[in-house]
Amino acid sequence: QAAFRRDLARLLELIGTGKESLSFMKKRIRHLAQQWLRAARRLEQKLAGRQRDQKHILIHIGFLTEESGDVFSPRVLKGGPLGEMVQWADILAALFMLGHSLRVTVSLKELQSHLGVPPGRGNCPLTSPLPFDLIYTDYHGLQQMKQHMGLSFKKYRCRVRVIDTFGTEPAYNHEEYATLRGYRTNWGYWNLQPAQFMTMFPHTPDNSFMGFVSEELNQTERQLIKANKVSSMAVVYGKEASIWKVQGKEKFLAILNKYMEIHGTVYYETQRPPEVPAFVKNHGLLPQHEFQQLLRKAKLFIGFGFPYEGPAPLEAIANGCVFLQARFHPPHSSLNHEFFRGKPTSREVSSQHPYAEDFIGKPHVWTVDYNNSEEFEAAIKTIMRTQVDPYLPYEYTCEGMLERIHAYIQHQDFCTTSSAPASPKTKSAAMQSPPSPLALSPNSTHLVWSPSAGWAPQAWPPVGSLQVWVSEPQHTCTETCRRRGLVCEPTFFRFLNKEEVFLQLSIACDSTEFEMNHLYPAVAEGVRECYLQKEPLLFSCAGYNTKYRRLCPCRDFRQGQVALCRDCL
Ligand code: UDP
Repeated sequence: QAAFRRDLARLLELIGTGKESLSFMKKRIRHLAQQWLRAARRLEQKLAGRQRDQKHILIHIGFLTEESGDVFSPRVLKGGPLGEMVQWADILAALFMLGHSLRVTVSLKELQSHLGVPPGRGNCPLTSPLPFDLIYTDYHGLQQMKQHMGLSFKKYRCRVRVIDTFGTEPAYNHEEYATLRGYRTNWGYWNLQPAQFMTMFPHTPDNSFMGFVSEELNQTERQLIKANKVSSMAVVYGKEASIWKVQGKEKFLAILNKYMEIHGTVYYETQRPPEVPAFVKNHGLLPQHEFQQLLRKAKLFIGFGFPYEGPAPLEAIANGCVFLQARFHPPHSSLNHEFFRGKPTSREVSSQHPYAEDFIGKPHVWTVDYNNSEEFEAAIKTIMRTQVDPYLPYEYTCEGMLERIHAYIQHQDFCTTSSAPASPKTKSAAMQSPPSPLALSPNSTHLVWSPSAGWAPQAWPPVGSLQVWVSEPQHTCTETCRRRGLVCEPTFFRFLNKEEVFLQLSIACDSTEFEMNHLYPAVAEGVRECYLQKEPLLFSCAGYNTKYRRLCPCRDFRQGQVALCRDCL
């Protein structure tokens, strides 16, 4: 039985010393300790003594190992990407607070000793059973485990969770398909269940949304912040001087400078970086809590287009700032942008921070065209006049993150084959499979799970939340569900990957084929050709092709906690 922890001291010991990155994480954990403790107490009450098994968990932070170059640690004090460190610190804190037994490694040697690989013997099967129920790692760590576990890697990979900032879509994860269809990247094709990849933001429902936390304010702090806001103070998003090299900045900076005092937190060694104009008040890279203090005073947090999708905008909004960012037209993706090139996703990024744009929006978030001076100026003027309360989505609070990780640990099981998708792989098997337990909704627009079917599989999320919708040709399933106030749920694909489901949706099929394609099940526009999915690993919420209408499994979700359906806890 796992017992919620009452303090974080033991975790700080477990993390070890000797790297700037580790010091950064420990400082963060210490700073947020009270918030974690309060959140754990609240979740404990909510779960009301429910049975939770204590898991033995290995956390191997691959990108911090010398063997993968550890390029991060030396950059921690220079404004390098801190987002990953923020997330790892929060994952460690959450797993620990939930009461699990943890081992933390940041070197190959420690990894080998914890896995039970004898020194000097790489690439051999483990001689004793793996002593961990779960392993949280990243792509670097995954590679190291594969190299050092030999055949045991295949056996145990279902226990792995990969922390993967930008996400891995199913088409890139499936080795054979990625190779055949040109989805090969430097990162992809591990043939894991796509939900084993855990992202920083809910990018694609194909992956699990891990997230991180931002500091929560109490009522007094909120009042104080509102009273002390300086409506003419702006802070620029970004710690590295390179973000100031953005095209066209002279024009929009001149407008901003007309109305507001501009502050920056750009790292520098001895003198002002030449990219940062003289009228900007640059504080240099600040320690995290001082950065929060700056945000508490500022009215506006403004993005120049890079870095993409980091924690800072959420922190700014949580501290009562308005976040202003550029709309990307056309959207940035691995097809047209250097940064995303080679990443295992085709996601189209419509602004610097799509989560802020789609999940938060006005009045906290303004997404505008920076090349349109009128639109930009009007936004600045309105923002300065508007009173905005500090806001933090529940899923980014400590309690929200604990609740989500608790649910994953309780319910996600990628090792038991009985929980694997049960859809038939051939036409004849399809004929023999049990009848569809779906029924047309009262207004005939979509299918719902029918209680009169008399059976409901042991599934998580529970199938009662399932709705089947047909996509427009230009939409992914993610988008199709989103437009109905729902979220795509890939674990449900297996219930609609059946010939009769087309019939139930009044789609007439002249032919039905079973094929490997991440867009299937789908119907080809105009020609009445229906397609079912042959490879369950390719079920994907992401992806569209104007040739097809896709069958999409959608579900409801908890307000502020998109990863969980209403009955999912
Ligand atoms: N941050 C900081 N000092 C600063 C500016 C930012 O410690 O002067 C922190 C900030 O609190 C945030 C983290 O850096 O939690 C990562 O921020 P960002 O969104 O820039 O993401 P990154 O690109 O670093 O992953």
